[in-house]
Amino acid sequence: MKIAILSRNRSLYSTRRLVEEGINRGHEVHVIDCLHCYMNITSASPKIHYHGEILEDFDVVIPRIGASVTFYGTAVLRQFEMMGVFPLNESVAITRARDKLRSLQLLARKGVGMPVTGFANKPDNVPELIKMVGGSPVVIKLLQGTQGIGVVLAETRKAAESVIEAFMGLKADILVQEFVKEAGGADIRCFVIGDKVIAAMKRQAPEGEFRSNLHRGGSASLVRITPEERRTAVTAAKAMGLNVAGVDLLRSARGPLVMEVNSSPGLEGIENATGKNIAGMIINWTEKNQKPWKTKTRGQ
Ligand code: ADP
Ligand code: GLU
Repeated sequence: MKIAILSRNRSLYSTRRLVEEGINRGHEVHVIDCLHCYMNITSASPKIHYHGEILEDFDVVIPRIGASVTFYGTAVLRQFEMMGVFPLNESVAITRARDKLRSLQLLARKGVGMPVTGFANKPDNVPELIKMVGGSPVVIKLLQGTQGIGVVLAETRKAAESVIEAFMGLKADILVQEFVKEAGGADIRCFVIGDKVIAAMKRQAPEGEFRSNLHRGGSASLVRITPEERRTAVTAAKAMGLNVAGVDLLRSARGPLVMEVNSSPGLEGIENATGKNIAGMIINWTEKNQKPWKTKTRGQ
């Protein structure tokens, strides 16, 4: 196969591993920085230009589009789709996953468990919003945040009201969520490829912290997940239309609750925690499933 990896930086762990495993299996692998692509949009023969050349004859495109370049990155990916190149994850699915409200609404529609979540645009009814998710303590999240930044635990109703009003005053988009205390500062990252969870790890927050992000000092370890957790993760990935996804679950008294579905799940933490060759599994899955023009949406 001729593989394009859409990544801004070839030295990132996940990019390096995918290149390595692609080459190990005899494929031709190119790392392409989407911001250096320029395109003509025509119905006759859509093309992508890159550093003075035309990108041609690719079989597969593996998007590793960072959150900050979602808009342009998905446009480039869409162009690949218009050329019939098989995307590991399609542009529409990535766009869904990058929008937290849209994701939660899609998951709700499929009956996937999630923390009770509220959102509002104006501070008209902040007390009502807090009541709607079961009262304090609540978790307040900035929709644009990643890596746990912009995720706040408000222990009391007063604190919750002030934080929500402050964020709204700054015109920031937020959601308000029930605090799942039983999770004990831990979450489970399920790595889904196709219709299987192929690896899982538990991330535990350090003492005195409820956010388990590795960037916030959390630690990762191997975990056995239940059949219900497996099913939930696979259903969540499928609801988004993602072939490869990192599904983050909280263990609650009422079963697994999906917090987030990541369309470009990092490989470093999970390969280290589990000792599995996940990059290799991604390439293997791609070999078996790629076909020209095979997307659900073709970017539409
Ligand atoms: P980000 O996308 O920035 O990582 P998350 O929504 O994943 O933000 O939240 C960061 C961390 O905070 C999670 O990994 C989890 O440990 C904790 N957390 C988030 N939401 C809740 C919640 N509703 N109840 C309990 N803990 C939560
Ligand atoms: N790579 C990040 C993770 O797996 C998320 C990237 C995304 O927004 O999809 O946690």
